[in-house]
Amino acid sequence: MNTKKFIIANWKAYITAQKQAKDMLATVVKAKLSKGAEVVVCPPFPFLSLFPKTKSSIFSLGAQDVFWESEGAYTGAVTLAMLRDFGVSHVIIGHSERRHFAMESDEVVNRKVRAALQAGLRVILCVGEKEREDSRAIPEIVGAQVKSALADVPAPHMKNLFIAYEPIWAIGTGVADTPNDALSASLYIRKVVGDLYGNKIGMALKVLYGGSVDAKNAALFMNQSGINGVLVGKASTDKKEFLGILDSF
Ligand code: PEP
Repeated sequence: MNTKKFIIANWKAYITAQKQAKDMLATVVKAKLSKGAEVVVCPPFPFLSLFPKTKSSIFSLGAQDVFWESEGAYTGAVTLAMLRDFGVSHVIIGHSERRHFAMESDEVVNRKVRAALQAGLRVILCVGEKEREDSRAIPEIVGAQVKSALADVPAPHMKNLFIAYEPIWAIGTGVADTPNDALSASLYIRKVVGDLYGNKIGMALKVLYGGSVDAKNAALFMNQSGINGVLVGKASTDKKEFLGILDSF
């Protein structure tokens, strides 16, 4: 199993001005990280150019979404080539907020996943159930989301895939999942991927937890050996909270 820990900062649309973005970025790049950790910052598209293009093994640049076609008459689209040109190495796909307000279907998520992996980007695929009390949720809903997102994804591309288990009821609510339940979900996701691609790929898969992660609870998720890191929304835009998260493992 991969022992490196990943912290993905999803700024969503919380940071809305260049000055704010520059300021947060300066804080992140100055932060001291423990060995074996990597931070991926995913700002809104207009702020991608504020990030230095120099390669770092500790900090990477991610995008919050991408379009699947390579170029053409697609008003408003941001393509993979555009992202790469700005030094983007990671892209979040299938976030529950996009599935909800941009009405992205499983088919759209699958197209984006295939195109981004084909282009050599690292994909952070988000999956998660809506209601906490639905006991069939993990196997039925999350399993189906994983399978449909990975339809026709060739095995060699799987090394560039992260799957973020993000129960929707935990996103932005201040009520995180328990580390035990997040671990069970992550093991189930590994099993689904193992059934599709074989045990070795299932075990090597990078699985993250996301949903109300903050400085107080990050270590509880990060220290689980079956969880490879965390996807952080709101708390990644608050200096004190985010530095606390980076400091917590
Ligand atoms: C997210 O946006 O993926 C997320 C987990 O948000 P938050 O940390 O704010 O719950």
